[in-house]
Amino acid sequence: MHKAHNGMYIDGTWRPAVGTEMITVVDPAGERPIGQVPAGTAEDIDAAVRAARTALPRWAATPPAERAALIGALHDRLVARKDEIAATVTAELGAPPPFAQAVHAGVPIAVCGSYAELAAAHPFEEKVGNSTVYLEPVGVVGAITPWNYPLHQIVNKVAPALAAGCTVVLKPAEDTPLTAQLFAEAVHEAGVPAGVFNLVTGLGPVAGQALAEHEGVDLVSFTGSTAVGRRIGATAGAAVKRVALELGGKSANVILPSADLAKAVAVGVANVMSNSGQTCSAWTRMLVHTDRYDEAVELAAAAAAKYGPRIGPVVNAKQRARVRGYIEKGVEEGARLVAGGPEAPKEQEQGYFVQPTVFADVTPEMTIAQEEIFGPVLSLIRYEDEDDALRIANGTVYGLAGAVWAADDAEAVAFARRMDTGQVDINGGSFNPLAPFGGYKQSGVGRELGAHGLAEYLQTKSLQF
Ligand code: NAD
Repeated sequence: MHKAHNGMYIDGTWRPAVGTEMITVVDPAGERPIGQVPAGTAEDIDAAVRAARTALPRWAATPPAERAALIGALHDRLVARKDEIAATVTAELGAPPPFAQAVHAGVPIAVCGSYAELAAAHPFEEKVGNSTVYLEPVGVVGAITPWNYPLHQIVNKVAPALAAGCTVVLKPAEDTPLTAQLFAEAVHEAGVPAGVFNLVTGLGPVAGQALAEHEGVDLVSFTGSTAVGRRIGATAGAAVKRVALELGGKSANVILPSADLAKAVAVGVANVMSNSGQTCSAWTRMLVHTDRYDEAVELAAAAAAKYGPRIGPVVNAKQRARVRGYIEKGVEEGARLVAGGPEAPKEQEQGYFVQPTVFADVTPEMTIAQEEIFGPVLSLIRYEDEDDALRIANGTVYGLAGAVWAADDAEAVAFARRMDTGQVDINGGSFNPLAPFGGYKQSGVGRELGAHGLAEYLQTKSLQF
């Protein structure tokens, strides 16, 4: 596991924080403190933004191939430290070790590698009639990230920002700052010039807010809750500053009548339970035709019961209380518990564990079918026909992701095209680190990953001849 630094990474060195407040990092499986990091203030943010501004002109003028080589070196440092990344995510998030290795470490390594290639290959210049259009870096990026995929959320912002020629100040989530410090070390080891990437750990309403409001920041890229995202969007709007928001979700897993039901349910349950349900794109609503509904409920309950504590705890006590509150609310509103429940799992004496939970007889307007729970809780909803399924699928304020299952891809695609959502997996299609990810409706503004993610960090200048 990464050992905590007692400092901020600013302008290429670890320096002490201006204040003395500290954040204690807790292991959610053992409920024990595992380290302390400084709680940054507006002054630390200001120092980091100044460093990023000073470094900007040179970095922006660095040829894309050189920037690509440094992102490649960063990728290699992350590969070299893969075991340490996985162990650190397990320690501060509670992720089971195999999942931490494969997903929490593996996916951001793949994404970082993809940006090393894109940075070199991206056309930063194009001809349009008598004009040459240059794609130039937006400037200084303020990146604010959540705890649920600690490294992935960081790499999703920092790698494309660096590829574009932007400089960055990162304020990571207070629950998972050790992974962020490890990332800063990897950036340093890769030889990225001083000031191009800066890290300030701290609390959201203090350091996060100071970063979002700082006039030296040109683009705020935020991933987290819709409530905070709305405020950041308003602040950025008032300052006429660019903003990218990756917010919550309440995605639908639509199982059409012709689908392989057993497979669709098994994959759907695994999708919701992985990372203990703390995935913004999780398919937390399973939509099943009324004729096959009872069979689906039985399959889902059996699949969830097999998980037990293998899914790991949720991140902290507050989150556990919140998830349990939603389970109680589901029971109160008349949904039928068929697996799990609000009580702590029997076999777990300590740790912020929640039982893998499945609700049947969920109606589309219930709280558990409308609000993001961010825990291992699946709701099965019955539909009468395809139009009904579409109404239910589109019937929330969110539109981040989803899934459609049918006997053939064409049938599933026809349905997916009618969904108000940013990303849909067809018949269990696998994750693609180059595919744009982001929300329709209140799930956000902007896209991450691949060339679309890089475009968020570029602005255009046209010269006429
Ligand atoms: P959060 O919004 O409380 O925190 C996210 C980040 O914002 C943290 O770094 C936090 O310190 C910071 N923050 C908090 N208050 C702030 C403020 N006033 N000003 C500036 N920054 C502030 O969310 P969370 O609890 O960390 O994460 C869970 C939520 O994030 C869920 O709702 C989930 O859906 C969402 N999420 C979305 C995505 C996505 O890609 N769409 C990914 C992960 C998580």
